[in-house]
Amino acid sequence: MNLILLGPPGAGKGTQAQRLEEMHGLKQLSTGDMLRAAVASGSELGNQVKAVMDRGELVSDEIIVDMIAARIAEPDCANGFILDGFPRTVPQAEALDKMLAGRGLELDRVIEICVDDDALVARISGRFTCANCGTGYHDTNKPPKTGGVCDSCGGTAFNRRDDDNAKIVAARLEAYHGLTAPLLPYYRARGMLGSVDGMRGIDEVASAIDGILENQENGS
Ligand code: ADP
Ligand code: ADP
Ligand code: ZN
Repeated sequence: MNLILLGPPGAGKGTQAQRLEEMHGLKQLSTGDMLRAAVASGSELGNQVKAVMDRGELVSDEIIVDMIAARIAEPDCANGFILDGFPRTVPQAEALDKMLAGRGLELDRVIEICVDDDALVARISGRFTCANCGTGYHDTNKPPKTGGVCDSCGGTAFNRRDDDNAKIVAARLEAYHGLTAPLLPYYRARGMLGSVDGMRGIDEVASAIDGILENQENGS
């Protein structure tokens, strides 16, 4: 099964993708994580994208499409993947369609996680991740079970993203509404879009997503 999780920054795409990865054996592909790894490694790609990311703007379609095309071809994606943060523009979606068709692959579902802009700022400002395994947390909504210790790996070091501040979030939301929201009618017209209310708790959102995927498997 190949899925897209669509939604504004902070909607819960990564949180739900991590769960789907564990429960359904799918591979999470987060373009944001890939770009941050490139920046951290100081690679040529990282140097190219750093300033754009720091401003909360979108990296060029060409860079992103090349990056994801290479990643989808890796063996760990063979059982299915969850695209988290990609596509983010209509040209990216068109390039994805072409790429998949060329490889005999299909998209099964696009799941939109709907969250109000006001709630996103609170989610993003409380977000942090395990520095060792990448598991996502929130100061109040999803703290580790034991304070300061990662539930998944026992790690004790955590990261906060440089772009997770109120000023950059405004730019990221603008990019979402202007460039990414047009993907909703794009996928709706193809009969692929399912939407969940992302204002509810993490477990309730997870159940709603599972409901959509069960209908998918039953062929309805
Ligand atoms: P995205 O990948 O869409 O940017 P994340 O999955 O990183 O979003 O979630 C943003 C923050 O909000 C994280 O700190 C996460 O723990 C928290 N979060 C995710 N889903 C929910 C939810 N349904 N309710 C409350 N907080 C949530
Ligand atoms: P969030 O889900 O919180 O918006 P991401 O981790 O998905 O954040 O993305 C962080 C940044 O990486 C974006 O603000 C943008 O600069 C860049 N980025 C990630 N994915 C894409 C993409 N598909 N197209 C263009 N830029 C991207
Ligand atoms: Zn961890």
